[in-house]
Amino acid sequence: MNKKTKEIIDKLYTTSSLSEPEYLDLIEGRTGEAEEYLRSLAVSVRKKHYGNKVFIRGLIEISNYCKNDCLYCGIRRSNRMCDRYRLTKDDILSCADTGYALGFRTFVMQGGEDPYYTDETMCDIIAEIKRRYPECAVTLSLGERSRESYKRLFEAGADRYLLRHETADSNHYSSLHPKELTLENRIKCLHELKEIGFQTGCGFMVGSPYQTKENIAKDLKFIEEFSPEMCGIGPFIPHKDTPFRDFTAGDAELTCYLLSIVRLAVPTVLLPATTALGSILEGGRELGILSGANVVMPNLSPEDTREKYSLYNNKLSTGAESAEKLILLKEKIASIGYEIVTERGDAIRK
Ligand code: SF4
Repeated sequence: MNKKTKEIIDKLYTTSSLSEPEYLDLIEGRTGEAEEYLRSLAVSVRKKHYGNKVFIRGLIEISNYCKNDCLYCGIRRSNRMCDRYRLTKDDILSCADTGYALGFRTFVMQGGEDPYYTDETMCDIIAEIKRRYPECAVTLSLGERSRESYKRLFEAGADRYLLRHETADSNHYSSLHPKELTLENRIKCLHELKEIGFQTGCGFMVGSPYQTKENIAKDLKFIEEFSPEMCGIGPFIPHKDTPFRDFTAGDAELTCYLLSIVRLAVPTVLLPATTALGSILEGGRELGILSGANVVMPNLSPEDTREKYSLYNNKLSTGAESAEKLILLKEKIASIGYEIVTERGDAIRK
């Protein structure tokens, strides 16, 4: 590692802030030694705030219908090969019941932007989960909605909202999305979520088509300034039924390097070791945790819908819908010196 890279890492560690050009230098200065140094600091910061705990979130993929047509996504509306499904209120509650009995204390309801799930429908489901399990957190990942809608969902009891910004560069954003989707609106939604009181998560894909190192530096600066409670960073993985089918997947090691950087830039962030990371690299999720991540999101969705919720190909099966599978996951995480805990795992407020 050269002297300049070390100085930048030390500055990030002590101040949690860098300029955009410094983030770029950090990306360009990546070597095995820099990775290791950064990782050791990221782990120490994560330990300071969260100890050895890894939080689990029960993922419920409620619908693979989507009105949008993002070019990278396997459930985009123009993919005619996608076998569509929607979970009913009862389906969702039954996933939550199973998850609760296993020890999950956060449920993440994720889906495409499906107009079927009106505010009324979602508020009803959220309120029922909160009525049955008041000590559990409800996280939503349902895309862009109006401020009024976010407010209603929050008032119904939802605690957290994940909305990846995807890229902080507007030209890059337009190369990944159809023209009706804009970075401006995405950022507006993120600010609204925060203002309403949600623990808010942003994030991006590593190695998405046309992404430059400068784009990543911009993403890192955006994350530092937005200071989200959660941040999802995973490698891009192409899906065969999308226009990006022939692009190569993102790099797992670079993803882990960026996880470490984000841990230092936003020390208390809840940082998942994503399923995508585990899908492109054997042991990828464990490497993510060893790089500063502290969340895993096993799937609680019904077995028969899992294949259909295909955002990208070769998705790692991360089910924990049975006690046996959850024990296996706990053992994996314990083998690298960490402990899966069954608590809500809220972000520490700064
Ligand atoms: S990325 Fe999200 S909004 Fe875009 S098509 Fe896929 S599910 Fe829909």
